[in-house]
Amino acid sequence: MSTSFGQSTVLGYPRIGANRELKKAVEAYWAGALDAAGLEAVAAGLRAEVWRTLRDARLDAIPSNTFSYYDHVLDTAVAVGAIPQRFARLGLGALDTYFAMARGVDAEPALELTKWFDTNYHYLVPEINADTAFAANPAKALREYAEARELGITTRPVLVGPATFLLLAKGDDPFARLDDLVETYAAILTALAEAGVPWVQLDEPAYVADRTPAEVDGLRHAYRRLGELPNRPRIFVASYFGDLADALPALLDTPVEAIGVDLVAGPENLNRLAAAGPLRGKTIVAGLVDGRNIWRTDLRAAVTTGVTVTGLADLVSVSTSCSLLHVPVDLAAETRLDPQLSERLAFARQKVDEVVLLGRALRDGTTTLTAPLPSAPPSWRRDDIRGRLAALRPGDRQRGDYADRADRQQQRLGLPELPTTTIGSFPQTPALRTARAAHRAGTLDDAGYTARMRAEVEHVIRLQEELGLDVLVHGEPERNDMVQYFGEQLDGFAATDHGWVQSYGSRCVRPPVIYGDVARKTPMTVTWSTYAQSLTDKPVKGMLTGPVTILAWSFVRDDQPLADTADQVALALRDECRDLEAAGIRVIQVDEPALRETLPLRRTHQPAYLDWAVGAFRLATSGVADDTQIHTHLCYSEFGEVITAIDALDADVTSIEASRSKMEILDDLAAIGYQRGVGPGVWDIHSPRVPPHDEVVEALRRAVAAVPARRLWVNPDCGLKTRTYPEVEASLRHLVAAAAEVRRA
Ligand code: GLN
Ligand code: ZN
Repeated sequence: MSTSFGQSTVLGYPRIGANRELKKAVEAYWAGALDAAGLEAVAAGLRAEVWRTLRDARLDAIPSNTFSYYDHVLDTAVAVGAIPQRFARLGLGALDTYFAMARGVDAEPALELTKWFDTNYHYLVPEINADTAFAANPAKALREYAEARELGITTRPVLVGPATFLLLAKGDDPFARLDDLVETYAAILTALAEAGVPWVQLDEPAYVADRTPAEVDGLRHAYRRLGELPNRPRIFVASYFGDLADALPALLDTPVEAIGVDLVAGPENLNRLAAAGPLRGKTIVAGLVDGRNIWRTDLRAAVTTGVTVTGLADLVSVSTSCSLLHVPVDLAAETRLDPQLSERLAFARQKVDEVVLLGRALRDGTTTLTAPLPSAPPSWRRDDIRGRLAALRPGDRQRGDYADRADRQQQRLGLPELPTTTIGSFPQTPALRTARAAHRAGTLDDAGYTARMRAEVEHVIRLQEELGLDVLVHGEPERNDMVQYFGEQLDGFAATDHGWVQSYGSRCVRPPVIYGDVARKTPMTVTWSTYAQSLTDKPVKGMLTGPVTILAWSFVRDDQPLADTADQVALALRDECRDLEAAGIRVIQVDEPALRETLPLRRTHQPAYLDWAVGAFRLATSGVADDTQIHTHLCYSEFGEVITAIDALDADVTSIEASRSKMEILDDLAAIGYQRGVGPGVWDIHSPRVPPHDEVVEALRRAVAAVPARRLWVNPDCGLKTRTYPEVEASLRHLVAAAAEVRRA
């Protein structure tokens, strides 16, 4: 068996299947329509297909154990025995215990779900405490290795590394358990070696974020210990999503045989390698093909970088910058894309070819690779938009004085103290989804569709009036997704048919592609909002998705700075805000739930990001008159470094998630002198539970103690699209009654 790493590899591959087979099988299992054996058969088929695909593409080094029924961090938790007691004691079989941790059961809520670094993937947060009893359970990794061997394919099992695993965990000082956990990894590596596994990949992406010296020391110690095991596979420590900084010399100072660096998101890694001195004996796995975006690689530039790495290390292998988990499976499935666009794209399958090509070029010393990428068609360029952006002045991102705005808005809106509102969407019932699908399929014509959606809007307006809410919404029945809806209407965006990417568990998303200059063709939301407003005297809130969120949940062109693309989107939204205002809409909400999640992982990169992100939001929202009220909505309560940016958005009202954190956010806002309106969520809409009246009163009392009543709004944590009407009616009734009670006090 070869001990060399190989010339080309990928750090991981999509596991959902080309047609989301895994989603369908897992959901069928949950619904009782497929048994465990049936589910396992689908999974084994998908794994085999991936390995064969990679082998047939002539990829040298093929990963395994990248398959997951739900999440790879959860798989690692199971592999190290970190199953919290509350799940272990349910007495379920292994598979059902796994799904109980992922999804919760009646008696036990699931593990917390959170963002995987700055991507749109979500992982389950391990719960690690002083009493977590780690125990090696290499069964899954061994089984997958053996399955691939049956096909004649030798693979490299992948696990989340011990240091990153603990840094991602929550509990009472998880990192303090590193020494114990490393012994468990030692047992796993020994078991893999006994099964003949030549290489293992341990992912340590946590080290591309700011880390303390103690955490870097922990990494060094962990890999020294694993490196000195008498019987182990060769170790490849992979990093991705950015600059390894101090962690690179720390890893070089251990016996591990290979280290992976992301040279796309972390170009700094090249200098770090150069500064590290001669890299004898270590394989550097150079992440040259972007694993997170869908553009074809500029192979000439990638070869140049690769040649630089070859000059620094004797052993170099080419890989993707991160797992291909973050891109769709195969461009070949997209038969309806504009050929001028598709010739510029590469999905997972195409990226494997790029890696193989680059690996060969570096081995053979070929530096003349293919023609350069064709330049973008002139029709993708919009000189009118570019002209408008070039002519912008700082004043175009600035509204009038807030106190004055607030007075004018209040005169126009005449709202009571503690006004009540919702975040935008109302339940997306199966009937609504069916109607949208029928319209897409052409079996429901435009007139029928519009009538159906208008009926829904009317229903939502009547319900809100009956409940006694103060600022109403139209309910967003016409929106499949808050980004896709706008992407479908803007120039410069394309939609794919099969471009699905796993978001979490069985949930997949199909991000639009922003390929050219963005321009608004026609108003996008005005007819819905004005129809809703025509049904009531109460103000109806217009509802838009902000520029940062539109970028965050799309695949964005990489030929110009994100800031420029964000401003183009902002300009389209600015025009939309003006049209809404001209049509009589007095309140407009611009959602930015992604503002924090796209925050760069390293603090040094954050100010520049926040600067353009805030600037784009302000460009979108500052074109309206001072008596038009701008709201924004953010889906989280831990603001950390973004709190001053939230203030800088200069929205008149900000609604935020707060019910789980018991309104703590209000103190944080007070601490920075936040002066404008705020709506801390008083109902946790992520749970089917209806909050009792007294609980809402209690939350509001706490809020009134922290924020003057005239600046406080009463609303749920987020949109209601995932809830049912009975839950929504009961909960909103409590919310309105609680507001009235606290008002009276
Ligand atoms: N307006 C959107 C809704 O209510 C906001 C969703 C979100 O913040 N994620 O559905
Ligand atoms: Zn939200």
